[in-house]
Amino acid sequence: MTDPLLTAPDVRELAARLGLRPTKTLGQNFVIDPNTVRRLVRTAAVGPEDVVVEVGPGLGSLTLGLLAAAARVVAVEIDPLLAAELPRTVAARAPDLSERLEVVEQDALKLTSVPGPPPTAFVANLPYNVAVPVLLRLLEHLPSLRTGLVMVQAEVADRLVAPPGSRTYGVPSVKAAWYAEVRRAGAIGRTVFWPAPNVDSGLVAFTRREPPHGNRAATFAVVDAAFAQRRKTMRAALTGWAGSADEAERRLRAAGIDPSARGEVLGVDYFARLAATD
Ligand code: SAM
Repeated sequence: MTDPLLTAPDVRELAARLGLRPTKTLGQNFVIDPNTVRRLVRTAAVGPEDVVVEVGPGLGSLTLGLLAAAARVVAVEIDPLLAAELPRTVAARAPDLSERLEVVEQDALKLTSVPGPPPTAFVANLPYNVAVPVLLRLLEHLPSLRTGLVMVQAEVADRLVAPPGSRTYGVPSVKAAWYAEVRRAGAIGRTVFWPAPNVDSGLVAFTRREPPHGNRAATFAVVDAAFAQRRKTMRAALTGWAGSADEAERRLRAAGIDPSARGEVLGVDYFARLAATD
């Protein structure tokens, strides 16, 4: 059997046939290198039991690799042209795997569920401008997801995995840590894409964790407030959130946090504890 994975000439031919003009707005950079796809599937450790959600399948580069490894792939694509073509591409290149694919034409930022059995893994080459909100949304709305691997802009990858106290630690790091243990899983160059993006990419792997005790929405609200004024002490940054500086100090102390600390040194459990104070 010939290798179903898309090569650079395959991607060019498909794009030309569809009259596709990749847009920056939708973060359309398509993988043209089968070795990169094989690496992603291997790193994601997707197996025959897995039901995979992929956001932004595009022309199907990664989808074809995932279909060979998983029980089922639900591919969520916003671009109607690409969503309509994907089943045809899979039928032509990997007819035996067609049954495993379901394409959902939808904005992943509005996704609340996916059809079929509960998904176990999230694997995607994410559109760069919405990578963090898409990842957080899927973790929130698809609680059955246990593991995942996403390709994002290198700088975003650094932010997602940053531990408390590091320069890049911020809102994405804390919120991702609410749901999962998140780690860097490699770097990806620019030449494996068409069109080549003007930034490097990075891989981020996650494994879902037991969330901290407490209320997620309330915790995320205090996280947003703390990092909105990053250079300030927590006492000052949380004045609006608590109603007054004294009240902020009282609640910080009740949560065991030094009021003169900055948000960037606190792990998600501290924020959860702080949100639970009254
Ligand atoms: N997975 C393909 C690959 O690796 O070659 C394409 C990845 S490309 C970086 C991102 C894809 O996400 C594009 O196909 C784009 O149309 C799609 N996309 C962009 N915004 C989206 C959204 N909000 N919901 C779902 N898909 C989206």
